[in-house]
Amino acid sequence: MALIVQKYGGTSVGTVERIQEVAKQLVAHQKQGHDLVVVVSAMSGETNRLVGLANEINDHPRGRELDVLLSTGEQVTIALLSLALEQLGVHATSYTGSQVRILTDNTHNKARIMEIDDAKIHADLAKGKIVVVAGFQGCDDNGNITTLGRGGSDTTAVALAAALKAKECQIYTDVDGVYTTDPRVVPEARRLDQITFEEMLEMASLGAKILQIRSVEFASKYNVPLRVLSSFTEGGGTLITAEESKMEQALISGIAFNRDEAKLTILGVPDHPGIASQILGPVAAENIEVDMIIQNTGHDSTTDFTFTVHRNDYTNALNVLQKTATELGAREVTGDDKIAKISLVGVGMRSHAGIASTMFETLAQESINISMISTSEIKISVVIDEKYLELGVRSLHKAFELDQLDPK
Ligand code: ADP
Ligand code: ASP
Ligand code: MG
Repeated sequence: MALIVQKYGGTSVGTVERIQEVAKQLVAHQKQGHDLVVVVSAMSGETNRLVGLANEINDHPRGRELDVLLSTGEQVTIALLSLALEQLGVHATSYTGSQVRILTDNTHNKARIMEIDDAKIHADLAKGKIVVVAGFQGCDDNGNITTLGRGGSDTTAVALAAALKAKECQIYTDVDGVYTTDPRVVPEARRLDQITFEEMLEMASLGAKILQIRSVEFASKYNVPLRVLSSFTEGGGTLITAEESKMEQALISGIAFNRDEAKLTILGVPDHPGIASQILGPVAAENIEVDMIIQNTGHDSTTDFTFTVHRNDYTNALNVLQKTATELGAREVTGDDKIAKISLVGVGMRSHAGIASTMFETLAQESINISMISTSEIKISVVIDEKYLELGVRSLHKAFELDQLDPK
């Protein structure tokens, strides 16, 4: 019997009816001869609701108590799904993260999974049960509840699949696979039959919120075949694996975007060795992660330095930078938190020149100004004004003919 780990996201278990529907699907999958371990998210909107409650009570809710609160969302769905399965005459056992035991480090609100104890799961499977595990949570070695960061149920599922050496990890969601870009923004987006871990990792890191980044890292590290499919419609979904598909040798696999960043510039800083670390050192000391960085060539022995941070860190970073500017005798600090980043991703880029110029030309034709650019072997990212995000994504999708099976 093949062991399969399936994960159902918030929308898939968003109502009592949906949970009953998922239970029916699980029974059908079990009848096909599979051993099933099922990971569920909180009902859709529930984690946001809990965050909202915490915000009403505390200016900066975080840490241990926030995890105690947020983990309750998933505890509700594991119990309801198990009850729904019992109702259909199938034995099921639900486990919270600490009951399994999914051991994590003690970084509350974005903990990392260290180890999974699979003994109880194997024992239950041997009895023919369906095992239902709460996503997004674990516990540290002192027994404190931890959570894995938003979207973390994907990572629970992949980590379980790796630990249990499952044949496949199936992520059931509200779209029927990974598309060339978010189909909510570009209705012409096309579903990909297959995509490599490497490309999926870039897509996720650059903003495609279909899978949590950590889940793709895990899948790639432990070589767990990962499949994204719909819990609403039938179909094979998108398979994410190590091999590059022979069928689809597109230059660009997809377009990712995000509105999560903000940009800061320090103008007229004295241009001497060590300046970058003098600017970014205090930012790092505040635990603020920096993404893109540009230092202009100096003139009149001064230079300008621009970088991006997560939008949540914008105000904090601006304060730090203002202090640095005074200390260094820089002319001015400016910032913009209404920016967006669009990225083209594809392993085919490695061997092809000219992608960047087509990208810049396309944006220019729409009069979209590019304020920052960054490239790596398999991606090109640009920062633009947030207002033009959707227009930019749509025109690039069209220019690279991503809606067609044999794109440019
Ligand atoms: P779940 O609640 O099941 O975890 P998510 O909302 O986290 O679901 O992820 C599914 C959503 O991801 C889709 O509804 C879609 O809008 C979005 N998405 C973003 N980029 C893509 C993409 N490239 N392909 C498919 N879906 C995408
Ligand atoms: N419920 C959590 C969230 O909304 C985890 C998840 O759904 O993956 O972020
Ligand atoms: Mg998700």
